[in-house]
Amino acid sequence: MGCVALAKEHKNSPIVPKVDSHSQANKVEGVRIYSENFVKKKQVALRQNYTISAKIGSGAFGYVRLAVHKDSNQKRAIKTIDKESITKDMKERVKFFNEVDILKRADHPNIIRLYEFYEDEKHYHLVTEYVSGGELFDFIIKSKMLSEAIAANFLRQILSAVAYCHEHNIVHRDLKPENLLLDRESADATVKVIDFGTSVIFEETKQLTQKYGTAYYIAPEVLRKDYNEKCDIWSCGVILYIFLSGRPPFGGKNDKDILIKVQQGHFNMSGPEWEKISPDAKKLIQKMLEYDPKLRYSAKQALQDPWIISNTSANHSDNLFDASSLENLKGFRVEQKLQHAVLTFIASQLINKEESKKLAETFRNIDKNGDGKLSKEELLEAYNATMGREEAIEEVEKIMRSVDVNGSGYIDYTEFVTACARKEAMLSAENMESAFKAFDSDGSGKITAGELREMLGGDANGQDDVWAKLIAEVDQDRDGEIDVREFKNMMLSYLNLS
Ligand code: ADP
Repeated sequence: MGCVALAKEHKNSPIVPKVDSHSQANKVEGVRIYSENFVKKKQVALRQNYTISAKIGSGAFGYVRLAVHKDSNQKRAIKTIDKESITKDMKERVKFFNEVDILKRADHPNIIRLYEFYEDEKHYHLVTEYVSGGELFDFIIKSKMLSEAIAANFLRQILSAVAYCHEHNIVHRDLKPENLLLDRESADATVKVIDFGTSVIFEETKQLTQKYGTAYYIAPEVLRKDYNEKCDIWSCGVILYIFLSGRPPFGGKNDKDILIKVQQGHFNMSGPEWEKISPDAKKLIQKMLEYDPKLRYSAKQALQDPWIISNTSANHSDNLFDASSLENLKGFRVEQKLQHAVLTFIASQLINKEESKKLAETFRNIDKNGDGKLSKEELLEAYNATMGREEAIEEVEKIMRSVDVNGSGYIDYTEFVTACARKEAMLSAENMESAFKAFDSDGSGKITAGELREMLGGDANGQDDVWAKLIAEVDQDRDGEIDVREFKNMMLSYLNLS
C-alpha cells in the first residue's frame, strides 16, 4: 500500500436521513423540458431491457453489476438492493428512494447519471452510467501520491459537483475516494461522484443532526450532530490532504482512534512528503479543514482559490474554447418542441461516451466559476474571443432563447450537450429507434398524447391540450398519434436544418 495509510474497512454504520422536500420546481407555463423527467420507474422486467453480466462492486445491502442496455447497446451499471434486507431496516428503504430522488435531479458532468429504475418482487434496481476507470481510491493507492497539477484537476471536478449539489440544497455527506469514480485510469480522467444514498436535501435555515459518514473523512461538527453543507468541504480537505501526501490527516488503528483525532481537529503538514508541496496548496487545505464551519471555505470559494486556478487553467488552455462546439451551440435551432424533447432525451440518456467526453471538457472550460452550469457572462467570455462584444452579446441572447429549454436562466449540462453534439451522432438509427421505444411506453407502435404527458409531464400538467398540440405539429396523417415514420421524419428534418 506504499505510504497510503488508508483502509476501506473503517466505515461508520449508516444512520439514514429522511428526505424532507421534493424539488425546487420551476413554475412555468407550457412545456418545459427537464432531463429529470426522462428518468422513469420501468414497468417491465429488468432482463427484458438488459443483458446482465459481471458483478463490479458491492455494498452493505446489495451489489453493482455491469449490464448492456439492449436497445442502445450501451454499457450501464445496475445497483441492486435486496428488498428483504432493507425491509428489516426501513432506513435503507428510505436510502434507496433518497438516492433515486437526488440523482434524478442532478444534471452535472461530474455526477453519475441515473437513467431509470426498476422494482421486482425481491429487488430494487438503479440503472446508472457505467464508469470504467475504477475508484479514485485505487488510483491513489497505485500512484502513492499525486502531483499538485493532477490533484488540482481532480479536486476542481469534485468541488464543481459539490458546488452544484450545495446550490441545489443537497449535502452528499459521504465524500471519499471510494465514492469517486474515474472514467478511465488516467491522471486526466473525468471524475464522477457516486453513492448519494447518504445524501440529504437540507433547508438553509436548519442544521442537520444525523451522524453520518466515514471516519477518515467525517467533519468534527457531524460528530457533534450540528452541521450543514460545509461538512462536504471538510471531506474535500481530507481528500486533498491524501492526494498530496498519501496519508490521511486524521489517522488511527481503528474508527475510535480516528474519530478522537477528528474531534480534536489538529493535523500537521510537516515531514518529508510536505517539504515539496507549495505553500498555496497547504493554505487551501487549511481553509477546507478549518475547524469552524462558518470560517471554512464554501465550495464556490474553494473553486476560486488561487491554487486551483493556477493549477488547472494551464491544463485547459489548448482546448479552451472548442470551435466546433461553440459553432454548434450558436447555430442550434429546432422547429418543434417535440423535436427538442427527443434531442434532450438522446443527449441525457443515449449519447455515446466518446461524444460526451469531448463535450464535458468543453463545458468545463467555458464554466469558469466551476458551478456546473453556464451563465450568460461565461458564454460571453467564450464568444468574445472570436467576435466583437456587441455581436457576442447578441449571439448569447439568441443561445439562451433557443437552448435554455427549462428556463433556468443558465445553460445546464444536458442543454449544452443537446445543442453541441454532432447531429449525426445524436440521430444515429440506433438512437432514433431507442428514443421512439422510450416515448412509445406501451409498445403499441404509436406515441399518444397520454404517453407524451407521461414522458414530459411536470409543468404542463393540467393543460391537456398541450400534448395534442405537440402531436399535431408532426402528425402528417392526422390520426392524433405519432408513428415511427412520422417520428423519423420529424427528427430527419432537424438533421436537414442548417
Ligand atoms: P453502496 O451504496 O452499496 O456502497 P456504491 O454506490 O458505493 O454502493 O457502489 C459500490 C461500488 O460499486 C463502488 O464503490 C464502485 O466500485 C462500484 N460502482 C458503483 N457504481 C458504479 C458505476 N456506475 N460504474 C462502475 N462501478 C460502479
